Amino acid sequence: MSAGQGDRVVVVGASLAGLRGAEALRRAGHRGPLTIVGDEPHAPYDRPPLSKHVIAGELGSDATTLPNLVALDAEWRLGRAATALDTSAREVVLTDGVRVAYDRLLITTGTAARPWHDPAQASLEGVFTLRGRDDAAALREALAARPERVLIVGGGFIGCEAASVCRDLDLAVTMIDPMPAPLAKVLGLVVSGFLVDRIKASGVEVRSNARVRSLDADGTGRVAGATLGDGSRISAQVVIVALGAVPNTGWLKGSGLVLEAGGLVCDGHCRVRDESSAFRPEIRAAGDVALWPHPLYEDRPVRLEHWGNAAAQGAYVGRALALGDAGQPAFAEMPTFWSSQFGLNIKLVGLTEGAESLAFVQGSLKERRFVAVYGRAGRTIAALSVDCARWLPAYVEAIAAGAPFPPIEGALDQPARLATLDPAWPADPAKDKA
Ligand SMILES: Cc1cc2nc3c(=O)[nH]c(=O)nc-3n(C[C@H](O)[C@H](O)[C@H](O)COP(=O)(O)OP(=O)(O)OC[C@H]3O[C@@H](n4cnc5c(N)ncnc54)[C@H](O)[C@@H]3O)c2cc1C
Repeated sequence: MSAGQGDRVVVVGASLAGLRGAEALRRAGHRGPLTIVGDEPHAPYDRPPLSKHVIAGELGSDATTLPNLVALDAEWRLGRAATALDTSAREVVLTDGVRVAYDRLLITTGTAARPWHDPAQASLEGVFTLRGRDDAAALREALAARPERVLIVGGGFIGCEAASVCRDLDLAVTMIDPMPAPLAKVLGLVVSGFLVDRIKASGVEVRSNARVRSLDADGTGRVAGATLGDGSRISAQVVIVALGAVPNTGWLKGSGLVLEAGGLVCDGHCRVRDESSAFRPEIRAAGDVALWPHPLYEDRPVRLEHWGNAAAQGAYVGRALALGDAGQPAFAEMPTFWSSQFGLNIKLVGLTEGAESLAFVQGSLKERRFVAVYGRAGRTIAALSVDCARWLPAYVEAIAAGAPFPPIEGALDQPARLATLDPAWPADPAKDKA
């Protein structure tokens, strides 16, 4: 189903996927009314610099605005959240009660930082999460005040990037992570073991296999530190809660659309499923909020929190809303993610989940620059480069083609014999009640 000339298109979520979707819609020739709803007061902006250059003080949070690639001729409704969706009336209800009618709807409400479980502790002065540009500006200010110690709760990508910035600012940092090493869940212990050495060498105190039991106040409403699961205490004036993200789907409860594992369930064309099991061509989702079957991974449902995916899926869906699906392949963008931390340039293509094997195909851990590939059932499913990105495109092609594992042998700069290793996935510590 494609949008007619007069059709009203509404985009809910004014960020990367929403902006790229709106641009693609206009590029594909849609001339009807376009409304973009966003709960933040800001025009769409870029998040990756927030945990890197913005909190470091190298870039103002207001300098992250995304370039607008096409004249949108849109009505912007910023600073107002969508609170409900009425699919029978085809209306989006906003926080001020206004109802915005649509013929086609694009849902790009992304994710929010997972909050600290205790709201009173989370609201202590000095406790931060990092998702939006206002969070980054506030955290920047707190870091510029040079706290004696920063405590980072969680060893995922954002926690590691924030720790890296803190060390660049010569601030004392402790990182608490329930896993045996930061990033172990995504990369396995062989690779994350290399990274944790680098993180520790930069001066971060890493406490692995540990949990924060409570954030402690100083008696004046400020955070003073934390108590760990083993009863030990850490003093800190700034705490960064970096526990991952949760999809922004609360406003869709009662809409009849299906939410699973937190994501909005879609088919391969990003059409959203409703409770009658129908995929609705007039409602699409894209970006961090969407859960869809990825054809490169046996149509396993995936929900990616990757910049590249949000941009590509937004554009795919914008085109689909304008032109329909006839003759269009399912959305099959290769997952890609990058991170810069502790002087390392890290790029990941494909999905490592379920990998049984790992091989260092360029460089080595010893050289501190490498490409490692991950394999499952004899196929190459992901490739990770650390300070070695120029080799990555060849492996991207190999993953897309479902090449055998390991995919390329006898290449320049490759070890004479490729050893196949176990990636060493850590046990899930969720059941540990530290
Ligand atoms: C600090 C940080 C660093 C990152 N670094 C990297 C990186 O190095 N590499 C990488 O690949 N990815 C990175 N990412 C991830 C990347 O930024 C996201 O994948 C991308 O922003 C997703 O875009 P999106 O449009 O789907 O969702 P979002 O960017 O989350 O945007 C969703 C928008 O919808 C709004 N919204 C939510 N609910 C409502 C509602 N009910 N009504 C109206 N509006 C609503 C939200 O406030 C938000 O503005 C990073 C993310 C963060 C937070």
